[in-house]
Amino acid sequence: MINKINTDKLTIAIDGPSGAGKSTIAKEVARLLSVDYIDTGAMYRAIGYKLGQKNIDLEDQKALNQVLDDTVIDFEKGNMILDGLVVNDIIRTPEASRMASICSALPEVRKKLVVLQRKMGQTKSVVMDGRDIGTNVLPDAEFKFFMTASAEERAQRRFQELIEKGEQVEFSQVLKDIIQRDHNDTTRELNPLRKAKDAVELDTTGMSISEVTDKIINLVRCGR
Ligand code: C5P
Repeated sequence: MINKINTDKLTIAIDGPSGAGKSTIAKEVARLLSVDYIDTGAMYRAIGYKLGQKNIDLEDQKALNQVLDDTVIDFEKGNMILDGLVVNDIIRTPEASRMASICSALPEVRKKLVVLQRKMGQTKSVVMDGRDIGTNVLPDAEFKFFMTASAEERAQRRFQELIEKGEQVEFSQVLKDIIQRDHNDTTRELNPLRKAKDAVELDTTGMSISEVTDKIINLVRCGR
């Protein structure tokens, strides 16, 4: 059935808050449709990680611009590549999450990454997930979804993920971080997290990965 979808330049935008399950679902939808998956959060994480490692003063415009000019970000075979190195795992620590959230509010960072993201979305079929894909990066995306879930459920999922990776974390801290990131994402001046008017809202609280994936695939299939 899935093969019957015409994937000739298919663009799917999936937005939502931290821990709503966007990445897992977007990756699976992309796999089922045989199109590329672009994880824009990973791009902010990679920049945040680099700026943190280099201990850059984020108010020093010159230093910030210099690092951004010297940074090459790309995806290769599903891997996040930062300056030629695979950084899939080191950008997933709580510290990298915190840095990504802070850096994503900087206009210079957003400008650089949005240009790259638009290029990726214009040249090939993609499933792209993030916070501002349907509203700003790809406002003409053929399909737009806005995934939500309660803060407690999102924190529980993130907590589980971190524990499985061997991280030492407290649930209360993970929940606090999620609430803080929601606040940062929705209140930042530039491209805040918002549901696009034409996006389909999916509340995934209590839903399994396959239930959400099936729902999206069905909506895409019916819409083409
Ligand atoms: O989705 P993920 O949690 O990996 O995103 C990391 C950070 O990047 C988030 O805290 C969010 O603030 C930021 N982000 C963004 N715009 C996007 C994707 C992610 O500001 N399109």
